[in-house]
Amino acid sequence: MVKFSQRIQKVKPSATLTINAKAAELRAQGKEVISLAVGEPDFAPPESVLNGAREAIDKVMTKYTPAAGLPEVLDAICGYYNKFYSIDAKRQNIIITNGGKQGLYNLMQILLDPEDEVLIPAPCWLSYPDMVLLADGKPVIVPTEAENNFFVTKEDLEKYLTSKTKILILNTPSNPTGCHYSQEQFDEICKWAISKDLFIISDEIYDQLVYPPAKPTSASKWFVRYPENVAIVNGLSKSFAIPGWRVGYVIAHEEVIKNFSKLQGQSTSNVCSIAQMATLKALTGDLGFLEKNREKFIERKDYIVKRIQEIKGVVCPIPTGAFYVFPRVDALYTDKINNSTKFCEYLLDEASVALVPGVVFGDDRCIRFSYAVDIKTLEKAMDQIIKAIDKL
Ligand code: PMP
Ligand code: GLU
Repeated sequence: MVKFSQRIQKVKPSATLTINAKAAELRAQGKEVISLAVGEPDFAPPESVLNGAREAIDKVMTKYTPAAGLPEVLDAICGYYNKFYSIDAKRQNIIITNGGKQGLYNLMQILLDPEDEVLIPAPCWLSYPDMVLLADGKPVIVPTEAENNFFVTKEDLEKYLTSKTKILILNTPSNPTGCHYSQEQFDEICKWAISKDLFIISDEIYDQLVYPPAKPTSASKWFVRYPENVAIVNGLSKSFAIPGWRVGYVIAHEEVIKNFSKLQGQSTSNVCSIAQMATLKALTGDLGFLEKNREKFIERKDYIVKRIQEIKGVVCPIPTGAFYVFPRVDALYTDKINNSTKFCEYLLDEASVALVPGVVFGDDRCIRFSYAVDIKTLEKAMDQIIKAIDKL
């Protein structure tokens, strides 16, 4: 057999994608499985997005574009971020990526040297630690507690700071917890990170999915003040409901973007030109649908939280964004079903509902529900889950 690199042997497959594929496979076999596993909106994208793609096809836009993206699309991203976060980013501060995922991956590749440490408050999106490993860096997990809405404080972070710490990853609202830092809380952490000369990567992929009265939080003002210390990652997978079209972007210092562009030019080149044109129309089109989607998600969140809170012994921090809820369920574990993986396997077998075990996000006491499905499906899923839990 081929001898694979040590690098690839250090990482695991993405559990969210694997579990979703397993649920799809069971469905294909004729089993009725409800998947609350993957973080993917169920809404159709706005017409503007589809029209943008159609126009690109009609105009036969089949050629390569610059690796960083088409200039007019870069301008649209600037306009969008400037409108929401008043940052006055320029074209040379932006690069379009194959999803936020590639944005994060490439940042690790261009910023980390072997053994550089990256602070990751956990529970965290499962790809962060593996992306750090793939860049030969060292992920340093900073644990937080459900009872405290999974918020990390500068005091928590300080305990894990070493002379090798280079990057801090922040993600609000959070995947997997749905918890969301206020701008003030977030600023406290950024202020601390800047005082330690860390590089902040702010993953803002769920910024349009924050539930009022909470407001979106951004690292934008820190980017304005300390452009060499901040990169913002965002994308269209969640808010604009086009995860399969793979559009993300990074906002950072011109020199960061230059190096990023060099990597992209030698690896994947530009993002699909049709998806880029869809992005242009999405970001410059009517954004009224965002509000409507938020309202739907609030209704679903209220419903699922109420049902989860009815289960005795469960601690359920109330999400204020994204479309996840991450309750602590270890009080329900038994001698045999004694971790989050076994608990989710039990619920898949007994309740026919696919969920993601908390262990893959760094907390084996919790499980993740993605409530990006309609209320009827949620109702059915929760009825089946509660029935299965009663049997434990
Ligand atoms: N960050 C977080 C926190 C996510 O949940 C996701 C979802 N996959 C991403 C980044 C990347 O998403 P995408 O690559 O589809 O833009
Ligand atoms: N971010 C989503 C999730 O957590 C999509 C799958 C993935 O890329 O991990 O389910």
